[in-house]
Amino acid sequence: MVVSLIFIILIGMKTAKRRLLISMIVGLNLFNATVIYKLWWAELQQVKNTKKKKSTQPTKVKSHLATDTAIRAQVFMPIKGRSYKLSTVAMQKLQDYRIRQRKLAMRYPGLIFFNGDTAKKEVALTFDDGPDGQITLQVLKVLAKYKVKGSFFFVGNYVQKYPQIARQAYKQGHLILNHSHTHQSYINKSKQWIKQDLLAAENAIAQAIGRRPAMFRPPYGDIDSVIIGEVHANKYKGIIWSYDTLDWTGIVKDSIAQGVKSGIRSGEIVLMHSRQGTMPTAQALPDIIMYLQDAGYAIVSLDKMLKVKAYK
Ligand SMILES: [Zn+2]
Repeated sequence: MVVSLIFIILIGMKTAKRRLLISMIVGLNLFNATVIYKLWWAELQQVKNTKKKKSTQPTKVKSHLATDTAIRAQVFMPIKGRSYKLSTVAMQKLQDYRIRQRKLAMRYPGLIFFNGDTAKKEVALTFDDGPDGQITLQVLKVLAKYKVKGSFFFVGNYVQKYPQIARQAYKQGHLILNHSHTHQSYINKSKQWIKQDLLAAENAIAQAIGRRPAMFRPPYGDIDSVIIGEVHANKYKGIIWSYDTLDWTGIVKDSIAQGVKSGIRSGEIVLMHSRQGTMPTAQALPDIIMYLQDAGYAIVSLDKMLKVKAYK
């Protein structure tokens, strides 16, 4: 109908007018075609996107949850802890070292931990370098009195020397974890050397308590990419700390307690020692525990805090 009407109009027109009208009709149709094509393309893209969303949605949710948990545990808080026994220069050097350690560890999410979930009012108390025949026992006594669980990073050599102390700590419900066999820094050691030392300590602990730890704290907190790789290859998670009491520098018990009390943060992993010469730590412990409990912090072991298994 419309076509025949246009045909009649065209016959009645002179050539110039006819040409103008034809070009108008063609132009209008071209415009219409472009609009129709654009609408069709937009619709096609929308359908494609909906399909994409549908197919990736479960993975997205899953990976989001996984990342969320991992990231929370992997918030690397700045390491804190000062000592009046260290000079300003020594303290600055230590601070620079802490920053380098943290930067390196951040490249290996999930393999090395400095602290727990910063959204939870939890603290983990960790004790290095034992067992010995005196301080470890004193620490165990305090922990039992306040019904608190601690995490002990024992040195393999000393576990061989004091297996009954390691056993006692384990039986009291504390974690017995790997802090190397010889307490030498792992920096610049071969992969083979690292593996041997790790396993020697692991075997000593297994002999004493019948369990093989799955958490390792490198001596002096020394890490590099080789060490992190070997720790992972031997089925360990690396654990450092976020608060260093610096009890090893020889500060008095009140300074140790005061340091923890003034600086404590949620998710804190506190480093202390249970070896010869660290009696002030054992003496400061009741004060620290009472303060934390009064302030509403839950004192938890590392496996609970990090949701990482303590034993293989
Ligand atoms: Zn140590």
